[in-house]
Amino acid sequence: MSDLRLDPINQQWVAIARNRRDRPMEFVPMEQLRQQMICPFCKGNEEETPSALAAYRADGSLLLSDDDLSNWSARVIPNRYPSFSFRSAEDRDQPDPGSQSYGPFELNCSPGIQELIIPSSRHVNSLSELSDEELKLSFRACRDRLAYAKSLEHIKHAMLFMNCRLAAGASLGHIHYQLLGTPVVSEPVISRTRRAQSYRTENGRSMMGDLANWEISQGARIVDLTEHFCVVCPFASRFAFQVWIIPRSEDFDFTSCDEDVRNELALHCRNIVTRYEITLDNPAYNLLFHTGPFASPNGQIGYFELFPRLTLAAGFELGTDIWVNPVAPEAAARRLRSED
Ligand SMILES: [Zn+2]
Repeated sequence: MSDLRLDPINQQWVAIARNRRDRPMEFVPMEQLRQQMICPFCKGNEEETPSALAAYRADGSLLLSDDDLSNWSARVIPNRYPSFSFRSAEDRDQPDPGSQSYGPFELNCSPGIQELIIPSSRHVNSLSELSDEELKLSFRACRDRLAYAKSLEHIKHAMLFMNCRLAAGASLGHIHYQLLGTPVVSEPVISRTRRAQSYRTENGRSMMGDLANWEISQGARIVDLTEHFCVVCPFASRFAFQVWIIPRSEDFDFTSCDEDVRNELALHCRNIVTRYEITLDNPAYNLLFHTGPFASPNGQIGYFELFPRLTLAAGFELGTDIWVNPVAPEAAARRLRSED
C-alpha cells in the first residue's frame, strides 16, 4: 500500500512508495543489473511484464490487449512498481475516497494511474533511435493515454514524461514514456495555472503565446521555428541546454490537436534529442509534457520541455529552489543550432 502525504509547511505532496522497494534494481548498482536482465520491453519478452492495456500495430490499428503478440509496434502496460496506489482497470470507476486529515498533515489514498508506453518492440535506447513511423505512432499512443486519463473523474492531473538513461532516472535501457495520473494536483501546477489565468484576464492574451512571440522577436534563444511550434532555450533556463517547445496556437491541446501538428511536435522532440547527443556526447535527458489541472480547461498550459542531466541539484537549489545554470541559454541555443 502506498499513499500521498501533504507537507503543510511546503505545501508539497510526497508519494510514500513502499512497494517500489520490491523492484529488483532498487538501491542496487543499476548499470550492473541492467546488463544481467532480460529486457522486458523487447518483442518476445511480453510475459515479463503485466498484460497490455493497449497495443498498436505498425499501421496504427489498435489492439485492445495482448491478443496478437507477434505484431505490435507500440505497447501500453501498467507500471509493475507504481509510486503510489494503483487499481486494476475494473476498479478504477470506484468512488474517490479523497483526502483526509492526519494531524497537521493531509493524507490521500485515492488511486492514481501509472502506465508505461513502449514506443518500439525493438531495443531502442533513445528517442533519436526511433524511426519516423515509431516516433509518430508513439506520440499518438501518448495522446490516447493522456485523453483516457483526462476522462477519469478521480484523476485530477497527469504528467507524461520520458526519462532516458540512468542519470535521468531510467531504470531500464529500453526507452519508454510514463504516464502518472494523480488524484491531487501539485502546488507548482496549481500556481502556474493561476498565473496563466490572471495573465489572460489582465491582458486578453496567453502568457505562453506572448513569451513565444517575444522570443521570436529577439531571436537569440530560438533553436527552431516551424508553423505550429517555437523551440527555444528559455531566458530563465533552470538547466544548461533546457529547451521549451511552445505551441504557437493559444488554444493548443495535445489530446485534441490534428495529427500533422502532433507529428510536427514529435519530430521537434527527436530533433532536440539528436542535437543533445551530437553536442553533449549522449547525455541522460528528460522529456516532459506539461499540462494544467484537468478541471481547469481555461487555464491549460500545454508546453513541452527537454533538458539533459549534466549537473546534480545541490544544497542551494534544493534549499531555495533557485537554480544555478552554468550555460547561458543564448550560448546553448547557438550550440543547438550548430553555430558554435
Ligand atoms: Zn528492449
